[in-house]
Amino acid sequence: MLTPNSFANGQWIAPAANARPILSPVTGEQIATAGGSDLDFAQMVEFATKKGGPSLREMTFHQRAKMLKALALYLQDRKEELYAINHLTGATRKDGGIDIDGGIITMMVIAGKGRREMPDGHVYVDGNLEQLSRQGTFLGQHIAVPLQGVAVHINAFNFPVWGMLEKLAPTLLAGVPAIVKPATQTCFLTEACFRMMIESGLLPDGAVQLIIGGTGDLLDRLGPQDVVSFTGSADTALMLRTNPNILRNSVRFMSEQDSLNASILGADVTPDTPEFDLFIKQAASEMTVKSGQKCTAIRRIIVPDTQIDAVAEALSERLKKTTIGDPAGDARMGSLVSASQKRDVLEKAAMIAQESQQVLGAEAFDVPDGPGFVSPMLFRCGDPDGARNVHEIEAFGPVSTILPYRDTAHAARLANRGEGSLVASLVTHDPSIARDVAVASAAWHGRLYIVDRDSMGEATGHGSPLPHMVHGGPGRAGGGEELGGVRGVLHYMQRTAIQGGPDVLTAITGQWVQGAKQTQGPVHPFQRTFREIQIGETIVTDPREVTLDDIEHFAHFTGDTFYAHMDEEAAQANPFFPGRVAHGYLLLSFAAGLFVQPDPGPVLANTGLNSLSFQKPVSPGDKVHVHLTAKRKTQRTDTYGEVAWNVTLYHHAGEQVAEYELLTMVAYER
Ligand code: NAP
Repeated sequence: MLTPNSFANGQWIAPAANARPILSPVTGEQIATAGGSDLDFAQMVEFATKKGGPSLREMTFHQRAKMLKALALYLQDRKEELYAINHLTGATRKDGGIDIDGGIITMMVIAGKGRREMPDGHVYVDGNLEQLSRQGTFLGQHIAVPLQGVAVHINAFNFPVWGMLEKLAPTLLAGVPAIVKPATQTCFLTEACFRMMIESGLLPDGAVQLIIGGTGDLLDRLGPQDVVSFTGSADTALMLRTNPNILRNSVRFMSEQDSLNASILGADVTPDTPEFDLFIKQAASEMTVKSGQKCTAIRRIIVPDTQIDAVAEALSERLKKTTIGDPAGDARMGSLVSASQKRDVLEKAAMIAQESQQVLGAEAFDVPDGPGFVSPMLFRCGDPDGARNVHEIEAFGPVSTILPYRDTAHAARLANRGEGSLVASLVTHDPSIARDVAVASAAWHGRLYIVDRDSMGEATGHGSPLPHMVHGGPGRAGGGEELGGVRGVLHYMQRTAIQGGPDVLTAITGQWVQGAKQTQGPVHPFQRTFREIQIGETIVTDPREVTLDDIEHFAHFTGDTFYAHMDEEAAQANPFFPGRVAHGYLLLSFAAGLFVQPDPGPVLANTGLNSLSFQKPVSPGDKVHVHLTAKRKTQRTDTYGEVAWNVTLYHHAGEQVAEYELLTMVAYER
């Protein structure tokens, strides 16, 4: 018998005498007992905000990213312990892969993004510098800093591991502690993974806590720096988000809820094309993986009216190959999570049947007797415009309905009838159909997944939220957003507009901005190690004259004999040039020649340049010189880091002629 514990204020707390029995959806026998314990929620919030938050915020983004990576690797090593109990949730090993490996990979990707896309500091710079004044003495920059409260994660039953890790990774990377409340039916699997995280010793005290069972008065204890991230049904979301304390304190409330996701077969697709098979395979897989208990599963299959018979037949044939049985064995589909979930699915399927004809049901399958087993149920609706239930009722199981459409605009309208979904997919080999659907439909769906014969080999699947891309949707889907790389981290941070002078912005962001103090070190900055280089450290080079011979030589040497460099008369006729001018790339090369240090030293490589702009033409006889300033440092490994330099080229008359950001890899130590 499993006895998942809560973890509050640094203590494990066992289920109480009045704990809830959890029954196996496969055998009906009791497998676990959960909850009922008397948790002190006020103390939990205090432990998170007084202990966990400060420890996390003391770390930089990179330190937290390294912690997450180490945690993901630790879980990876022990994941078989999770697979050993995964089947008790009714899920097959393949289903468990999406949950367990999917969760670990998500944490790994978010950690990688933290290392690559966030600074090794405490302030995240959001977007570009805004020029708020003519002379550049007063500027604006959006920044983001971690909220100083706690994130409460309330999760659905269907992804006990992924559901926890996909929220924890961005929260901890942001620097915010979390209290996790998994759905009770599958909480034993969440607890097993949570326990490993505590046993890893990688997280600071108070960074994570776990509630098994009810949340008591927790939401009444939250304040303006706290966040609730909810996943589950629309009814529960509505009840929780309207809690007066949540409303009074403007507690950030993110909601991921029901979704009537659609998949559209493009009007160009016929049964003899590869897209048709792709569409059928995808629909069958989305209906049966996790027994259809996926928030992203396809509930509505929208097809050209000319193809409805072919789709119904091919999909039925494919679905009939689904073997249903003990998820610990080799059946393709396991059971629903519980007997009550089965009742709910059958009730909802009956409502869909009121407006649709059932194409495939239990008669085609060998369905075991266990309390959670159901067969895939495929419906076909003749009047998709008049029907309501099919667009409104989410049967959270292997249930889907085929709907016919007349033209692409009609298909998009039907997809949008879900009133806001997590994902809609389109299978087409015609980019113009893709464009029409995107324009008509993107506003109604959090994600559009468009595939054809060329992309299907590498495509990641209609139902898979990716850590790199946003997950969430408008309206019915909850109006929330998660993941999406660094975007998902920002949900746990406050965006603040900073307005001030260049030195102020440099001090706050840790990045040099144009106009801020420039210092000249004792030696050329290219002779200094990553550790030694100071932000704002600058060299001003000697000037170099650009001659007509240089321009001629460069033109013939490179083959760039564009008339503006070669033909005085033609160049003068061009509105941008006074006559023959130097190549921009010649100026870049001269700039490098002016600031580079020839001898081996800490600079290991020039890895690129960003935001290059040529601002004024340079004519033969003009002189240019360069200001090179250390702008931003990002440690990449223990032995080297990236230094971004602001490079500005000036004309001898004082005007700026070009600017760019130069990237170099620099050794950490000598
Ligand atoms: P649910 O019944 O709404 O439960 C969701 C979570 O809320 C569970 O942890 C549940 O805990 C908790 N909860 C319920 N009442 C609560 C209360 N009064 N106070 C605090 N917490 C409370 O949903 P579910 O049946 O677990 O999940 C199925 C639904 O989730 C489906 O509709 C599905 O579409 C949706 N879903 C959406 C996404 C998404 O990303 N959009 C992902 C997965 C699932 P207990 O278990 O202890 O009641």
